[in-house]
Amino acid sequence: MTRVRAYVGLGSNLADPLNQLASAIVELARMPATTLIAQSPFYRSLPVGPPDQPDFINGAVCLQTGLDAHRLLDQLQAIERLHQRRRDSRWGPRTLDLDLLLFGDQTISDARLTVPHRELVNRDFVLQPLLDLEPSLVLPDSRALAELRRCCPDNQLQRLS
Ligand code: AMP
Repeated sequence: MTRVRAYVGLGSNLADPLNQLASAIVELARMPATTLIAQSPFYRSLPVGPPDQPDFINGAVCLQTGLDAHRLLDQLQAIERLHQRRRDSRWGPRTLDLDLLLFGDQTISDARLTVPHRELVNRDFVLQPLLDLEPSLVLPDSRALAELRRCCPDNQLQRLS
């Protein structure tokens, strides 16, 4: 079975966000044909989108998986549903957001899935946890994440101990 290294971003700003992320990581590690390789530190960040919502807690994990990208997205969405995720407003508050950030060196663009994740390059709360996992990460188009991190907007990341 071909196994691919995939990076998943986690975010939450409702219903005990730290616990939401911690239990999601346990669930990610239990996905079929998948091994959890590493998890990043967690960060507190200012919300993007509607301002009248709590700060987010963000992190990322590195997985090794035999699932293809769409089956992996199915699994991520099943975990979001377990966390009573509702899709009320774009960039609004959420119990759990799981994003497929990178899937090996693949570029995917179809009705369900865009990989690398569309917002990855604009979000310090996505780039920083990825860099904690792998400082030399590059996108499929060869752009270095470390360089993108230097140029992206500031969401006042606070690393949590
Ligand atoms: P969100 O509200 O941010 O959780 O967006 C979820 C929607 O984005 C779903 O309909 C997914 O099919 C779509 N989507 C596209 N690309 C991705 C990706 N790389 N990771 C997660 N969801 C994605």
